[in-house]
Amino acid sequence: MHPRDVLLQDKLGEECGIFGIFDRDGLAVQEITYYGLYALQHRGQESAGIAVADGQTIRHHKARGLVPEVFDEETLDALQGGKIAIGHVRYPTYGDTGLYNAQPLVIKYKKGFLALAHNGNLVNAEVLRNELEEAGAVFQTSVDSEVIANLIARQIDEGLEKAIQKTMSKLKGSYALLLMTEDKLIAVRDPYGMRPLALGRLGHSYVVASESCAFDAVDAEFIRDIKPGEVIIISQDGLKSIQMPVPLKSGLCVFEFIYFARADSTIDGISVYGARKEAGKILAVEHPVDADLVIGVPDSGTTAALGYAEGSGIPFGEGLIKNRYVGRTFIRPSQVMREQGVRIKLNALRKIIKGKRIVMIDDSIVRGTTSKKIVEMLRLAGAREVHIRISSPPVRFPCYFGIDTPTKEHLIGAKYGVEEICRIIGADSLGYLSIDGLLKTVEGSSCDLCLGCFTGEYPIEAEC
Ligand code: AMP
Repeated sequence: MHPRDVLLQDKLGEECGIFGIFDRDGLAVQEITYYGLYALQHRGQESAGIAVADGQTIRHHKARGLVPEVFDEETLDALQGGKIAIGHVRYPTYGDTGLYNAQPLVIKYKKGFLALAHNGNLVNAEVLRNELEEAGAVFQTSVDSEVIANLIARQIDEGLEKAIQKTMSKLKGSYALLLMTEDKLIAVRDPYGMRPLALGRLGHSYVVASESCAFDAVDAEFIRDIKPGEVIIISQDGLKSIQMPVPLKSGLCVFEFIYFARADSTIDGISVYGARKEAGKILAVEHPVDADLVIGVPDSGTTAALGYAEGSGIPFGEGLIKNRYVGRTFIRPSQVMREQGVRIKLNALRKIIKGKRIVMIDDSIVRGTTSKKIVEMLRLAGAREVHIRISSPPVRFPCYFGIDTPTKEHLIGAKYGVEEICRIIGADSLGYLSIDGLLKTVEGSSCDLCLGCFTGEYPIEAEC
């Protein structure tokens, strides 16, 4: 088995990243998509792919690995001449990790070609797949995204717009979706808006991406977030928006702000950086402590640590140094390997830590491995006291919508109370951000939030 497969077996999965462009300026769409995906690499490191449409046909290239591993000059040159492109970086959330599950998914059907890039997870994929198989459909992959492609292709006789609308009425779950035909780019956000999706402009061309940081990377301008339940169709005639019916309450995943998204992105009106910093400030009020130094677990804990330092008046310092060549896929299947993973990723700065009472901020505790190992490292580096503060509430429930948190039995927050967790990770004290505190950090968002991993209340029930 490939080491990466072993690594992913017991993974903490995360989401995918998608990027698309409809060119009206004679741009090299494959190159822009490459850079867009590069900026979204944090959303998935398992595979990457780009598909381009030139009015006649769709060509694509995808493979396992990071964006710069998958594409070189030759593979990008082979995609030259397109007018539209969509790209995808994948961290598997459903289906196994084989290449045939990499995206974009490109299918040929009676009316031509259709390419699809999906971020999210359908909770009725199994049911839909069974229904389609009963009716004679054959599937090439195990990803739920193929179910979407199949449903659209089956209803295409009524026209693309109708086919998409009918398909959406059948789908349950989270999906930010990019579809591409030979001459159209279509962006779809599920009616709950669970996954982010934004629209931008590059000259006269349109771009779409999971996060606004991808627009900055290609010098595009952010226009607006795509609304929950909105379908945007971009063609030579311009841009058309169709609003599908939406539930009373939307459900954007709050973990985007806590961990997934890049700090320099703005999602549904909220700056990720601002939300993280505010979380740290509120944490300082909710769980104050007498200490000498605030440190953060890089990278996602650093911003909250700055907020905690600001809120508490305790100075901020760099106490942990991160090996920048270790990505987010450090999590290992066996406990020993997982702990080793933390050692390889992070090291304590003895010079800064020695003799001090430390407050260490991380964004979340999932299994407890990271915090436990870091407490150990800090004590070895001479910390006098180690106080852990977490800029989110305890993760107590699994997620069915694309954030592949482990089953309940592996979630330390599902099994133990705060005091017991504190004892297990060996800290002097432990404090989590409250749910109310978390909600304050995203106040003013144009979407309601899904807090399922903290409360067990999900916008949609799974149907498997
Ligand atoms: P754990 O060591 O299992 O408690 O995981 C917590 C650490 O993993 C924290 O440092 C988080 O920044 C990070 N983290 C949180 N959620 C995820 C996720 N879904 N995938 C990968 N890492 C995560």
